[in-house]
Amino acid sequence: MSRVFSGIQPTGEPHIGNYFGAMRNYVRLGEQYGKNSIYCVVDLHAITNPNASNPQTLAQKTFEMALANFAVGLDPNKVIFFVQSQVPEHQELGWIFTCLTPVGELERMTQYKDKAGQFESIPSGLLMYPTLMAADILLYKADTVPVGDDQDQHIELTREIARKFNHNFGETFPQPKAVHDPNALRIPGVDGNGKMGKSKGPTSTIGILEPLDSIWQKLRAAPTDPARVRRTDPGNPDVCLIFDYHKLFSDLDTIQMVNVECRRAGIGCVDCKKKLMEGVTEHLTPIQARAEELRADPDWVRDALREGAKEARAIAGPVMEEVREKVGFLK
Ligand code: SF4
Repeated sequence: MSRVFSGIQPTGEPHIGNYFGAMRNYVRLGEQYGKNSIYCVVDLHAITNPNASNPQTLAQKTFEMALANFAVGLDPNKVIFFVQSQVPEHQELGWIFTCLTPVGELERMTQYKDKAGQFESIPSGLLMYPTLMAADILLYKADTVPVGDDQDQHIELTREIARKFNHNFGETFPQPKAVHDPNALRIPGVDGNGKMGKSKGPTSTIGILEPLDSIWQKLRAAPTDPARVRRTDPGNPDVCLIFDYHKLFSDLDTIQMVNVECRRAGIGCVDCKKKLMEGVTEHLTPIQARAEELRADPDWVRDALREGAKEARAIAGPVMEEVREKVGFLK
């Protein structure tokens, strides 16, 4: 049986890009793989970039990201879901992998090169991020890693590390593969400024837990087909982000109606956006209601994560015993 692993960055409240790009997929894989689907909020990774993580807010963001995943339907009785720093074996295996990995391999990682430029003095942890990521995956001998294609280089390095460990110390780890969700979409930012992303600020994103009236204000102001100046001008939904959102939130009849009526100026942009808002409301209301319930019971969230960490350690413990023995540590 395959085992799935994925790490989730503690960026606080996720947006609909995270939801349609990853979170929904975690729930679906959880139905398929059960307790062989392992997810963790990667707070140890967050601190590798001190510019982006703040000790005053890290715990809160970790909590919020966990809460949001529970709210969209991740079921702790079906999957293993925990916080990375609560399973110290990640760090232990990460160190062993660091000692196996040439500095040059880490320096050529694109994400490292992109981020390193922000620093006058580069934190070592930023360089070693991929060895910790390899440990996250291989600690559970996971072979399937649902990630965005921006992580392909890190997964290839994970495979390289697994090969090297197996060569040096005997067959131990599988060589995991990255799996890209065919349904994961590149979702445009609501300000019309490229892909939706937290780094572009709140004007770009629609939070899945954002109040509906705030979402409506953003949709109302969102750009549409720039060639459609007057209500009587026919539009082109293929160049309009509102139509992209309809494809996520609206039923097939509505999508088809917009596709036809926009082109013949049968619907105005404000009405089109109102129609979209109906779908957004229907979709997000139950998620937001569940999030409110969880917020009123934070101990449930913390207990579920602690229980998840126990389940994770039950798998990680024997793997680390095997690793320690093979590497030659005194028992
Ligand atoms: Fe976009 Fe809808 Fe206006 Fe067409 S009618 S341009 S799809 S908002």
